Amino acid sequence: MKSNVNSSEGIFKQFKIRDLFKSLKAHFFVSVFLTGLACLITMHVLFIDSYENSAVSGKCSEVQTQLRILANHIITHNYLQDTSEEVINAEIDVIANSFDGRILVVNDDLQVVKDTYAISNGKTIISEEVVRCLKKGTRGGTSYKYDKKDDYIQVVVPIVVSEMIQEGDVSTAGDGKEVVRGVILASVSPKTIHATMKVLNKRAGIVEGILIIAILCLGALMAHNLYKPFDTITAAINEVKAGYTEDYIEAPDFTEPRHIVEAFNALLRRMKVLDDSRQEFVSNVSHELKTPITSMKVLADSILSMGDGVPNEIYKDFMEDIGKEVDRESKIITDLLALVKMDKKDPNLEVSNVDIEALIGEVLKRIKPIALQRNIELIFVSKRPVTAEVDELKISNVITNLVENAVKYTNDNGEVKVILDADHQFFIVKVIDNGVGIPEDCLEHIFERFYRVDKARSREIGGTGLGLAIAKSVVLLHRGTIDVESKVGVGTKFTVKIPLIMAAER
Ligand code: ADP
Repeated sequence: MKSNVNSSEGIFKQFKIRDLFKSLKAHFFVSVFLTGLACLITMHVLFIDSYENSAVSGKCSEVQTQLRILANHIITHNYLQDTSEEVINAEIDVIANSFDGRILVVNDDLQVVKDTYAISNGKTIISEEVVRCLKKGTRGGTSYKYDKKDDYIQVVVPIVVSEMIQEGDVSTAGDGKEVVRGVILASVSPKTIHATMKVLNKRAGIVEGILIIAILCLGALMAHNLYKPFDTITAAINEVKAGYTEDYIEAPDFTEPRHIVEAFNALLRRMKVLDDSRQEFVSNVSHELKTPITSMKVLADSILSMGDGVPNEIYKDFMEDIGKEVDRESKIITDLLALVKMDKKDPNLEVSNVDIEALIGEVLKRIKPIALQRNIELIFVSKRPVTAEVDELKISNVITNLVENAVKYTNDNGEVKVILDADHQFFIVKVIDNGVGIPEDCLEHIFERFYRVDKARSREIGGTGLGLAIAKSVVLLHRGTIDVESKVGVGTKFTVKIPLIMAAER
């Protein structure tokens, strides 16, 4: 039992972790955090690097200035020939100490005449920088190099003397001639730069720490705010699952979740419409089914209350009335079943090639006797023979309903005309009468279930209020259209348009 609990806890945990990995919120949060972190690291590196470069170049130009002054003093005191000059030796030591480094004075024979570390005195130095400096003099001989690996900065400055031009020397006409007599080579310690960088690094670290916390908070806040609508929508959907509510969700400010919320609210509104129409349909069905039963009960009670000795004719009358009510009830149930079948996702159309002209002819033949009883003329105009892929029985029911209605709602001695026409795509059936007509405000409702313009009259002539709803469903199943035009006292025209070839299911 215990192991069961543990394993279910394990599964639960697994789900949670998997959910977290797949969560948009977590992804967004991690992306914001990583982007912030990458920016911070880049800024840090750029900032520290650029500080280091500018600190090194500043330090070098300071050292170069001091070394140039020293080079002048070396020339003035002829130090390269006589290194015993105390003033220069002291100056060299002071400068070397001031930047915590080492100074080598090299003559034009590449011989070290002075080394503040007293290691290389008298030795020959062959270094690329020194040779280049001797060659170029003040025109590019001064240089510095920062060796990060060995942690020192090397500065090279030429010791130059300007000699007056000999008469007849055309090569440097007008100016003094520059002669490189030696080189000052200094190794500078970057310790002070490192110390400043350490302090800077520490301060930047504190600021970056604060910024990371700020990015974390901002990321969490943004993730929460951006994805809150999704939680709200999920909660709302769960509520709908548990039991339908009409509470619409408030649209957030962000565009994308607002679109989702608006779509969801539209869905809720549609569900409400469907729910309302379902309720209305159920109450209409109950009412319509109850009416004949109530009539039968009243009829039966009346006979019973009459007691014994009621004449047979009266019994017969009452039984006939009860029979009519049973027929009505049965017609309502048949129509309802037809509608329910049509509402199904797969209404099972039995499609075949049908001669529409013959089909209409059959329908009119059946209705003709009823029309004749009221002296209503039935006219059929077929403009061309038509064969179409339809469900014969269902289309026959549609035409029957339209023509029966036309006869029902036309006064005696009236006229009902049926016109069949076709183009290359559709066949068109028009049922035109010169009957009572339909008021304009009722036209949009007549295809609704149980809708009747004149309830009493419809019931009296055996209508259920479902005929046009069924007709519309059938026409829509055939991917066709049904329209109505009418004027009270003038007449009504129904137009049915159906494709000749049944379009394949999409
Ligand atoms: P019913 O069984 O009541 O005829 P239908 O769905 O066939 O139900 O028709 C709905 C309503 O539309 C009818 O009750 C009637 O008021 C009106 N209607 C239908 N056809 C005609 C028509 N040709 N002329 C006038 N009114 C019509």
